[in-house]
Amino acid sequence: MAGIIKERLYTPGPTPLLMEAQLRALTMTLHHRTDAFRALMRETLDNLQYYFNTKNDVIVFASSGTGAMEGAISNLLSPGERVLIGTAGKFGERWVQIAKAYGIESVVVEAPYGHPVPIAEMKKHLDGGKLRAVFIQATESSTGVRNDVQSLGQLVSALPDTCFVVDAITGLGTTGILPDQWGVDLMIGGSQKATMIAPGLSFASVSEKAWKTIENSKLPRYYFDYSKERKTLAKGESSYTPAASLVVTLNAALNYIKQLGRENLIANAALLAEATREAAVALGLTPFAVSSPANAVTSINGPAGIGSTKVVKDMRAGFGAILTDGQGTMQGQMFRIAHLGYYDFLDLLAVLGALEITLHKLGHKMELGSGVRAAQNVYLRQGN
Ligand SMILES: *Cc1c(COP(=O)(O)O)cnc(C)c1O
Repeated sequence: MAGIIKERLYTPGPTPLLMEAQLRALTMTLHHRTDAFRALMRETLDNLQYYFNTKNDVIVFASSGTGAMEGAISNLLSPGERVLIGTAGKFGERWVQIAKAYGIESVVVEAPYGHPVPIAEMKKHLDGGKLRAVFIQATESSTGVRNDVQSLGQLVSALPDTCFVVDAITGLGTTGILPDQWGVDLMIGGSQKATMIAPGLSFASVSEKAWKTIENSKLPRYYFDYSKERKTLAKGESSYTPAASLVVTLNAALNYIKQLGRENLIANAALLAEATREAAVALGLTPFAVSSPANAVTSINGPAGIGSTKVVKDMRAGFGAILTDGQGTMQGQMFRIAHLGYYDFLDLLAVLGALEITLHKLGHKMELGSGVRAAQNVYLRQGN
């Protein structure tokens, strides 16, 4: 059909943008060494604490999320130290690669794709607290799985010399996490996820326990120097030129999130994810993440005999809906529909309706409307 096709993002980063935040950046002339910018930066850091649900200091870097991940490794560790990493997909594997790049030996507990990191197995490898740090994802975006941060945090917080590091890049704004109560020492976020703004900023909250470890650690670091950034940010400045336009959009987006309420943002993702899971089942599809699905993104096995790649391609070509195929060995096997960013229930009904047409045309047997109906029922059941 020739007609208007709007592009819509259903990807676990980048995500749909909050337009009023984008416009703020266009209408402000800012130099970063001004009182106006310092005030804006301070307010943004306060809002990040709200967003993270923490009393710990939050620092910001001009980088994608991986920059703050690399910084977590280079700032916490010293040569010769060992770490424990729980992996459940591509982003967990990134922790292992960064550690390796810094010459850090890691003990890896690997969950098969589609499953969460087994905490009982992690417990066996905590090694009486001789490890300097333990790493995990709150939600593994490559597989659509949620990990049990709370249980692992309880285990690690009992160890005085071991820090607990959580990549919450898609966990933030989608998943209830209590970092201070659960013993999370270092938690990482990124701007192109649930904060509804463009890529280019990473965030990290750091506990007192982690600051002490950072003071004594010896791995080399320069740009991603957490202590240095903490000191300059306290003055409302940053060590190097900040991504000022992104800080402005972040400030506006976090003010929107504050108005909406952090818990309501999380409930929004939870509703979308549940409705998507039920719609998939109603359409005769099976979930890729069976036991512990994330709110951030839903992973669905491609229809039998058709696979996922054609679904993703046809959704983009026919409807401008950008879904994601599986990554690495999961490519062709499953596709993902994310629930992050400035994304509402109507966006979901639209993508489900389009998915039905796409599946129908690809020859997958199901009843048109059944997925949308399942999602509608979830909406009504939740008292909306
Ligand atoms: C997006 C993402 C990252 C970071 O990726 P960048 O491309 O560096 O921003 C890390 N972990 C998870 C779980 C993610 O979803």
